[in-house]
Amino acid sequence: MKKILVADDEMSIRLLYSEELKDEGYEVLTAADGREALDIVEKNPLDLVILDIKMPEMSGIEVLRQIKEKNPNLPVLLSSAYSEYKQDFGTWASEEYLVKSSDLEDLKAAVKRHLQD
Ligand SMILES: [Mg+2]
Repeated sequence: MKKILVADDEMSIRLLYSEELKDEGYEVLTAADGREALDIVEKNPLDLVILDIKMPEMSGIEVLRQIKEKNPNLPVLLSSAYSEYKQDFGTWASEEYLVKSSDLEDLKAAVKRHLQD
C-alpha cells in the first residue's frame, strides 16, 4: 500500500485529505507542523508528501528544501490556499503546486501522477 504524508496546520484539511486519500486506497500519515513532518519523513518509508505552505514556525517551503536535500526522489506536492507563492523560487523543487479547493479531484489526480509503480 502506498504511504502518503499530509502536512497541514489545519486539522480540517488533514482530516479531509486523509479521508479522501484513504478512500483511494492509500495509507495516510499526518503532521500538524513542519518539524513533525520532517520527523515522520525521517522515520517512515514514504511514497509521497503533500505539504501545506503556510504553517507556523517552519514554512512548507523550508520543509520542502530539507526533504529534497535528504530524499531527492520523494515526490512532494505543495498545497496552498494562495497562488502567489508560485513566484517563490523555493517552491520550484516540488513536483507540483496545487491551489487548495473544496474539489479534491486535482489533488487526487496529481497524487496518482506522481506515485511510482
Ligand atoms: Mg496552513
